[in-house]
Formats: sequence, C-alpha cells, structure tokens
Amino acid sequence: MDTITLRNDLSVYRKILFNEFEEHTCFYCGKELDHGDIHVDHFIPWSFIKDDNLWNLVLSCPKCNLKKSDRLTPDLFVDNLIERNHMIIEKSAELISPSYQEKKLRLIYYWAKCNGYHDIWTPERKVHTLEKVQ
Ligand SMILES: [Zn+2]
Repeated sequence: MDTITLRNDLSVYRKILFNEFEEHTCFYCGKELDHGDIHVDHFIPWSFIKDDNLWNLVLSCPKCNLKKSDRLTPDLFVDNLIERNHMIIEKSAELISPSYQEKKLRLIYYWAKCNGYHDIWTPERKVHTLEKVQ
C-alpha cells in the first residue's frame, strides 16, 4: 500500500506537543499519559485527510488511539481541538498554518462525515481526579 510509505514519523510532533502545549493528559479520555507510551493521533483520520501537520495531531493514550482508529469523535472534541490550536498559535504561531482556523477545521470535520466517516467514537472520559501516590 502506498499510503503506508507516505506517512511521516510523528515522534517530532509528539515531542513538540508534550514539551510545550499539552497538560500531559490524553486528549480524549483525560487520563495522565505514561511517558514511555504516548501515541500521536490524527484527529481527522489520516486515511481521509493525509495530513501530518500539527493542527490535526493530538497526544493520546494507547488505548484511545487504538480504539478510535479511523473514526471521528463527537463535535465537542472539535471544539477542544480548536481551543488547543488557539493555544499553540498564541505561543508559537509558526507551528500551525494560519489557514487552519476554526472555520476550516469544522469544514474538514464535516467533509469527513459526508465522505463515509459516520462511525463516531465517544471516548470514556475520566470523571474523577486520580489520587496521586507520592
Ligand atoms: Zn485516552
């Protein structure tokens, strides 16, 4: 499959997201990430958009990444991504192209839905704060 060879190494993005912009929690379930096992997920499935840029990448725990697979999430997560991208742009404008603003992101999400991505995966959100054992 040619699509496999076209995928970029995402580890550079994992580093950027982890070091500067995220709360070190899974974008989907909210659980704290395990440093040794952090996945970079394409929010809009790569199979649809073939885009490896930061606006579309989030840090995820392995469980959510594997469960989500090639699916979309509910609208709420589009809002969260838009907010997350705003934060990135405010800190380091060069990391996300100015063309990927709210309107375009919502349109891409909508196009994906119109193009067969009907199966919406809803993450199980963490409802209570984890007790930290010191
Ligand atoms: Zn998760």
